[in-house]
Amino acid sequence: MADGLESESRKLLGRLRDTMAEQAAGQERLDKITHLTADSMGTEVCSIYLFRDSETLELCATQGLKPEAVHETRMKLGEGLVGRVARTGKTVNAADAPAAPGFRYMPETGEEIYSSFLGVPIQRLGEKLGVLVVQSKQAREFTADEIYALEVVAMVLAEMTELGAFVGEGAALSRRHVQPVMFRGTTGQEGTAMGHVWLHEPRVVVTNLVGDDPETERARLLKAVDDLRVSVDQMLEGASGVAGEGDQMQVLEAYRMFANSKGWLRRMETDIDRGLSAEAAVEKEQSQARNRMNQVADAYLRERLHDLDDLSNRLLRILTGQGRETGSAMPDDPILIARNIGPGELLDYGRSLKGIVLEEGSVGSHAAIVARALAIPLVIHAGRITNEALNGDHIMVDGDQGIAHLRPDDTVVAAFRDKIAMQAQAQERYASIRDTACVSADGSRIELLMNAGLMADLPSLQNSGAEGVGLFRTELQFLVRNQMPRRTELANIYARVLDAAGGKRVVFRTLDIGSDKVLPYMKPQDEPNPALGWRAIRVGLDKPGVLRMQLQALIRAASGRPLVVMFPFVAQYSEFSDARAEMDKALARERRLGHPIPETVEIGAMLETPSLAYASSRFFSEVQFLSIGGNDLKQFFFAADRENERVRRRYDTLNASFLTFLEIIVQRCAESGTRLSFCGEDAGRPVEALCLAAIGIHTLSMRPASIGPVKSILMRTNLAEVKATLYAARERGEQNLRGAVMDYLRDNGWAVA
Ligand code: PEP
Ligand code: MG
Repeated sequence: MADGLESESRKLLGRLRDTMAEQAAGQERLDKITHLTADSMGTEVCSIYLFRDSETLELCATQGLKPEAVHETRMKLGEGLVGRVARTGKTVNAADAPAAPGFRYMPETGEEIYSSFLGVPIQRLGEKLGVLVVQSKQAREFTADEIYALEVVAMVLAEMTELGAFVGEGAALSRRHVQPVMFRGTTGQEGTAMGHVWLHEPRVVVTNLVGDDPETERARLLKAVDDLRVSVDQMLEGASGVAGEGDQMQVLEAYRMFANSKGWLRRMETDIDRGLSAEAAVEKEQSQARNRMNQVADAYLRERLHDLDDLSNRLLRILTGQGRETGSAMPDDPILIARNIGPGELLDYGRSLKGIVLEEGSVGSHAAIVARALAIPLVIHAGRITNEALNGDHIMVDGDQGIAHLRPDDTVVAAFRDKIAMQAQAQERYASIRDTACVSADGSRIELLMNAGLMADLPSLQNSGAEGVGLFRTELQFLVRNQMPRRTELANIYARVLDAAGGKRVVFRTLDIGSDKVLPYMKPQDEPNPALGWRAIRVGLDKPGVLRMQLQALIRAASGRPLVVMFPFVAQYSEFSDARAEMDKALARERRLGHPIPETVEIGAMLETPSLAYASSRFFSEVQFLSIGGNDLKQFFFAADRENERVRRRYDTLNASFLTFLEIIVQRCAESGTRLSFCGEDAGRPVEALCLAAIGIHTLSMRPASIGPVKSILMRTNLAEVKATLYAARERGEQNLRGAVMDYLRDNGWAVA
């Protein structure tokens, strides 16, 4: 790289820093920057275009174009060369701009006399802020060095924007992080909450953008990278001690790869030579990685870019000395904002959180399961909220709609308060029927149970009015640890669950891992279709060590009390009989060892694959109870991945085919006298629950918070009429029976949406 250009670039950055330090209005600063940049780059024109709204760019300052065009010339995203840079996030370098594809002539600017055009995006951490352009009369392409120099200026501009340098009277920009913003995501857990932002990963603020001496900055960077390498190596050593070759190791290996990556380091060193400080160079790389992250579709690559993002954050923390501890205190009503969070970390926060908003996550993720267990409203897929939210910002979370309102204005606040008040009224109504048995208006007794899996769930047994635990997901105790729990530890936990149940029936489901539930300390299986892969009882039977340990822990926890065990994901009779044989062996062993044997042992299976509905009559008469795992059953029935947002909602539970299939199961259980329940998420949705009960599933197991709303609708509805409504709609050939049920409910005075 030419030394002259380098020192020119450093000089320019030094001037930009001075501009930042001067007491000046935002517009004045912008004007000065265009002047300095044109001067330094040797071009006649330098212009700054910034976003007015997410679709429109505005010329906000210029050196060389007509001054009257400033704040007048606007273009849509994708329109003209400037719009193209903004849309693609990529540089456009054209010697003959008017001939370049997409060029659009803006007469008011007087730009027709300029031939060459270089435009680079102004972006920060994946967020598009605008476009920086230089133009000159001479028809020539800009060199790679010149492009680099302009990118560095754009990066500094982006940081200055973040720091509020261009705000003020008549200024181009309004202050950032003060406007109300609504994020539309997806429901992770229903419920509403109001509170103040608490960032899981507080933002590192880089205030020192420009380095005085490249040698010093480079030394700072290398020292920080060394520290980072040491800490990653230590993490790896720590992890290999406990974790074998788990997922965590893979992530750490990826960290190590980046920490040693020559390309990454070289790019940052080049940025420093151009005049950036070490931390600004790290952030420039991070911004570009974020930009790529938004563009790649490949899940694996995106994950690796995330790793690089995390690593950059660590490096920034080392360089700026800003730890997680920002000195600010957690608000009394914290709403946790994070890109994503693990179940263990979420449990550490516990019930102190009022709500959670994640940029990523999925409905079936462990974090979502924990949020549900703790009954904390959760919104997932909330766009760029970690970029926008600041610690302490006011925020409202509408888990029902999957929406978060950041810094809401007064009308939103008022509407939200009304909604919360209405929910409080409903809660009072639910509390008043908590201890009443659930009997439908036409006299069918419906048993309502709760799903659980964490110790945090236990108080709900009393509060919700649940008649027992219909599904205890034992894998959660395995998922929230970073090593395999021991038998005594598990026995203690199961015993506490039985103690808390005080004689109510608790159905313990044996370990259901595989598919989306991967234990951090077990070797991940590289399977093309994990949901159809080696999971649940398949693992339990092929590698019975853990299953045996678990069965033993359950028998010991029961300590003479009745024990109910259910095997997950049974697809055929032999899997059930083999698993039951393990139970028989475990009982015999315990008896031999002189341990007390449960008073009674009930053994059931989950029906989660269509195949089991057609198992032999022998299976139906031997299995003591069946529970329909609707989440899995539905995904296999429709061949639609429950984790895939694109197809998840495509098929309705109230689809005539699915309900007809469920009726076959009801029929088979009736013939053999087998006890039947339903424990998928649909059991907790009032309208779905109503239809399940109407077709003859009289035991429903759901999350505790759903018991009130489900009981309330069941007690006021005539199930025979609902059944007749479903049948009539099916007779008419309707594919989806929801419409008919909703009409029926409306006709009977329910205010349904
Ligand atoms: C189900 O599949 O419906 C079920 C209850 O099991 P899980 O959601 O834990 O897979
Ligand atoms: Mg399941």
